[in-house]
Amino acid sequence: QAKARGRGRHAFFDHHMHYEAARRLALTSDLRAAIEGEQFRVEYQPIVRLGDRRITAFEALVRWRNPASGDVLPGEFIPLAEEVGLVVPIGRFVFFDACRRLAEWRSRAPLLDLRMHVNLSVQEVLEPDLDAFVARNLRRFGLSSDDIVLEITESAVIRSNTLSLGSLARLRATGVHLCIDDFGTGYSSLRYLHQLPFDALKIDRSFVESTDGGLGSAPIVRMLIQLAHSYGIDIVAEGVETARQSSELIALDCEYAQGYHFHRPMSPEAVNALLDASTTAEAVS
Ligand code: C2E
Ligand code: MG
Ligand code: MG
Ligand code: MG
Repeated sequence: QAKARGRGRHAFFDHHMHYEAARRLALTSDLRAAIEGEQFRVEYQPIVRLGDRRITAFEALVRWRNPASGDVLPGEFIPLAEEVGLVVPIGRFVFFDACRRLAEWRSRAPLLDLRMHVNLSVQEVLEPDLDAFVARNLRRFGLSSDDIVLEITESAVIRSNTLSLGSLARLRATGVHLCIDDFGTGYSSLRYLHQLPFDALKIDRSFVESTDGGLGSAPIVRMLIQLAHSYGIDIVAEGVETARQSSELIALDCEYAQGYHFHRPMSPEAVNALLDASTTAEAVS
């Protein structure tokens, strides 16, 4: 009887795996169609200076509206796109849009001296012409390499080999800034920090979030902030959702933050309105 039940469970897993595989296959072909059919758009989430909440940068976050199945989150389709070799065209679309918007926003709000953060997958870093692509787009929109921050997740850095160390150094040499994303979630954080040419690190949301509204893991956050300061690099806390988290981060000397407490990711049109409002506020104050 136990054996029969075991077999039944096995059949369930087979069925489930089959379903998963079919779903992934469908998503993959949808993804190809999405690249052709321009179903991607980009939302932008402000990064603020904690002291005065002034917007210092935006992070470009890709969005996919699949006409058949609705919105698919990047946490789901980016890993798939990486796996099936489709992440490079998506990333190029995002980078192009981000440069176009930044040029517009810098002229709309010249006093803010805005930067743009763009997420990169390992495959993009490994493309031999990435630096040329970046330079071409900066020229096209009259931007400087100093305006751009490329975010690479810590786990991606760890998964990649010495080849991408060279690629990162080459990118860095063009003058763009590099930021380690989701810092603290990998297992080799400390070993990589001193080898790699990074200018900033983002504390992963998992250390910030909590059920009681305070900082989830203050000792780790404090340590990461001190680490960044001792290397002389910028530090950004992700996923700040409450006023208490914000004031605790200020007390720990964290300079920059991003999260729903300040601003959600928003459409470019909403950013236009936000910048116009903040410019007006500044003019009257
Ligand atoms: P990430 O780069 O760590 O981006 C931050 C994620 O946290 C975003 O999720 C953002 O919407 C979300 N977030 C921001 N503030 C809060 C908050 O206060 N609370 C909570 N719970 N979440 C917050 P999103 O947009 O779903 O993106 C997920 C991940 O997908 C990104 O994580 C990034 O790794 C990847 N991704 C997004 N766009 C791109 C892209 O253009 N290229 C690549 N390669 N990856 C991308
Ligand atoms: Mg990021
Ligand atoms: Mg992140
Ligand atoms: Mg994260």
